[in-house]
Amino acid sequence: MSIIVVGSSAFDDIKTPKGSRKKIIGGSCIYFSIAASFKSKTHIVSVVGKDFPKNIFKTLNKKCVSTDGLKIENGKTFSWGGTYDTFSEDPETKFTHLNVFEKFSPDIPASYPQKNAILFLANIDPTLQNQVLSLYPNPRIVGLDTMNFWINSKRKELSKILKRIDILTINELELKLLGRKDSLHDSLKVLIEELQIKFVIVKRGSAGSMLATKKASHWIPGYPFCDVVDPTGAGDSYAGALFSYLDNKKNINEQTMLDAMIYASSLSSFTIENFGIDRLLILKKSDIRKRENELKKIARI
Ligand code: AMP
Repeated sequence: MSIIVVGSSAFDDIKTPKGSRKKIIGGSCIYFSIAASFKSKTHIVSVVGKDFPKNIFKTLNKKCVSTDGLKIENGKTFSWGGTYDTFSEDPETKFTHLNVFEKFSPDIPASYPQKNAILFLANIDPTLQNQVLSLYPNPRIVGLDTMNFWINSKRKELSKILKRIDILTINELELKLLGRKDSLHDSLKVLIEELQIKFVIVKRGSAGSMLATKKASHWIPGYPFCDVVDPTGAGDSYAGALFSYLDNKKNINEQTMLDAMIYASSLSSFTIENFGIDRLLILKKSDIRKRENELKKIARI
């Protein structure tokens, strides 16, 4: 049982109402893999520049995250800057420097499982997401996340990959942008009926998350008692937790998805309690379990 994740590895500059940080470690597959490490073995496919600290590889390896597919290339690591004016809105992107991602050619190292792993295409250029799926023709499940940057700049490539996935995790604003409809309902219809995505999970920040399928929709609350410092990485760690939960289940149906969402909400509520990956790195399984039990009571599941 294992997961392969392709996504960004980054330096982030972040400003929130609680403070600011420059050049801290971030990126979709970094958050994803650390969050997934509590339940699964995760294998990263990504790239960094020579400026990326070597100790992060060791930190990831200690958490049983494989980094054979995390290439180091000449040049600078991808970097992103974002500002949150309030915690209830998406960040304003100040800059996105693709750097080494501009020429990145992904591959699946021989040391990674060659079939039947869950494949998660984290937030990254949809062209790379398509390439990785072609390199890995027999995944157990395919999940995908994306963001406004790619929806606006690479819609064609994104539409192509969306037809090939099972589970989409996306936030509410991005869902409307993607579905090109004003209402959540109509946007979901586009994804579920036209693109035939089996499970769509809509992340709604502190308002929880929603599961939509052809037959039904459900809502899971967010953990209400956390002290938000930096929302960055909440979505990626939610996805890491969700897919690690599914990785341990034989059958995936609506109930398993809802249980996985409770676990994902609980785990990702820790990510946002400090800047970057700091809180995730000291998180214990017992902390997650405690919030998971609290959230189950709140959600009455
Ligand atoms: P989220 O979980 O949605 O808050 O994702 C935050 C992470 O996404 C940050 O650590 C950024 O480095 C990364 N990120 C921001 N913009 C992009 C982009 N256009 N492509 C890939 N990763 C990005």
